[in-house]
Amino acid sequence: MLEDSHYYFQKAADVLKLSERLREIIWTPIRTVKVDLVIDDDEGRLQHYLGFRVQHNNARGPMKGGLRYHPSMDEDHAAALANLMTWKTAIVDVPFGGAKGGINCDPQTMSESELNKVTRRFVERTKEVIGPTVDIPAPDVNTNAKVMGWIMDEYSKYAGFSPAVVTGKPLELFGSEGRDEATGRGVMVVLDEALKDRNKNWQDIRIAIQGFGNVGANAARLVAEQGAKVVAVADHHGGVSNDDGLDIGALILWVAKHRTVKGFPDGTAFNSSDVITWDVDVLIPAALENAITEENVNEVKADIIVEGANGPTAPAAHEVLVKRGVLIVPDILANAGGVTVSYFEWAQNIQQFRWQKDRVDEELTRKMREAYAAVRDVAKEKNIDMRIAAFVLGIQRVGKAATSRVYVAEKINF
Ligand code: NAD
Repeated sequence: MLEDSHYYFQKAADVLKLSERLREIIWTPIRTVKVDLVIDDDEGRLQHYLGFRVQHNNARGPMKGGLRYHPSMDEDHAAALANLMTWKTAIVDVPFGGAKGGINCDPQTMSESELNKVTRRFVERTKEVIGPTVDIPAPDVNTNAKVMGWIMDEYSKYAGFSPAVVTGKPLELFGSEGRDEATGRGVMVVLDEALKDRNKNWQDIRIAIQGFGNVGANAARLVAEQGAKVVAVADHHGGVSNDDGLDIGALILWVAKHRTVKGFPDGTAFNSSDVITWDVDVLIPAALENAITEENVNEVKADIIVEGANGPTAPAAHEVLVKRGVLIVPDILANAGGVTVSYFEWAQNIQQFRWQKDRVDEELTRKMREAYAAVRDVAKEKNIDMRIAAFVLGIQRVGKAATSRVYVAEKINF
């Protein structure tokens, strides 16, 4: 995955004609932390889990990025995702840098008390390098508001009352209105812009969504509210389709009870992986990376792809899609709604002042529309696709901040 981010980074750096030396400076993370988390499991046996935090860049502010609990979590993953966070925070212009981390574990096989212990151990072992003005974690795959609440509680034991150390907290524990659905709402807003670019209406489009977790389910609900038909949805257990449009409200209630879309009565079952090649106008990959690859790209039918997930399109597939004229709204723009409302949450925590949901939604919508327009302008001006344009914009903004802090002998064309 690190290779994929590096590929796009290099393409953007070529557009900006950056020197090799500067590329190396910008690409290298400022800190990588690896911690061994030893806990007693529920049977009293010692268990080891490896935890990671990669802090990529802080030129534009404290570093920000999610915590992922997954069996594939490792240093490379954290580094790739941290790098994406640096550009993402710059693209939506929130005053943060980029970081990412997580724990190599399988939450499906762990009890809540084990997850609580391993989370607290992670905070104990990283407390010196996180904090409201240093690095602020947030939810990602398999972590949620409850886990963020535990992080705030554990960190506050060492540093005193510190709600701003983490975002995505429960509402009753200094969380923000609208944070839960923010990434899905951002996906809906950038899709609205993409539809305008392609002269399409919400009422005429069919959408397929891979992943029905935080991002996928909220995006599904919000695009259906706009009048689009969500005709196919899949999670890692299976898929469900309905040509007349799935009843998303009913599907959300089904998933709350059964933990999967599989078996939803008001639709037809299909193999999870087929969702990527479904016959639709818009595809929203909102699960994990490498969903669209060389193997399936030629079967992809959608002509707009909005990347809810991080890194869902492999570089080889990206090139095929761009050549074919598919409009890809890239991850670092499309899923930036989460970090945007995380910023609002952090600002509310610092000010001890709570915003109403209307204000959160309104400011989020404005930020996402501005970011989309800024990326599209770069794409038009430089005649490049939206993904490379997003990287160019991110690198430019980070580069300008970094070089404004110090004396730089090299003449740089940011
Ligand atoms: P989540 O854990 O809530 O949901 C993940 C979903 O993906 C689940 O429905 C799961 O079953 C499904 N899934 C996993 N593997 C699959 C497979 N092979 N095929 C089909 N479905 C599969 O996670 P989330 O928070 O919704 O995050 C999803 C993606 O969005 C990740 O890439 C994450 O990094 C990215 N993201 C999340 C946020 C956020 O605010 N939560 C913000 C930005 C980006």
